[in-house]
Amino acid sequence: MHQSTSAPPAARPATRTAAHDRCPAAAAADPTPCDGPPDAATLVDREGREVAGCIQHCARLLPGLDGARVHPFVPTPRALDIYFRASELPPFAWEIGR
Ligand SMILES: [Zn+2]
Repeated sequence: MHQSTSAPPAARPATRTAAHDRCPAAAAADPTPCDGPPDAATLVDREGREVAGCIQHCARLLPGLDGARVHPFVPTPRALDIYFRASELPPFAWEIGR
């Protein structure tokens, strides 16, 4: 009789909660969920450091990053969406409950 040599099923990855399943641009203190893919856009700060994120979190992060901009490779309509959203937010909007 053939005996199975298969290993026991691997443990499934832990179910991630929404708070831990956000894009890299989401600030730890910002409770808002992502809006769109986690690599929808990229921000570049004045030192040239890049951070990818969803539209929502790029827009929320941008006002608090002095001298930052949307990466030039981001499609224009998407970049404008980020700038328009960011223009209505103060830096670190989550600190005042926005
Ligand atoms: Zn996000």
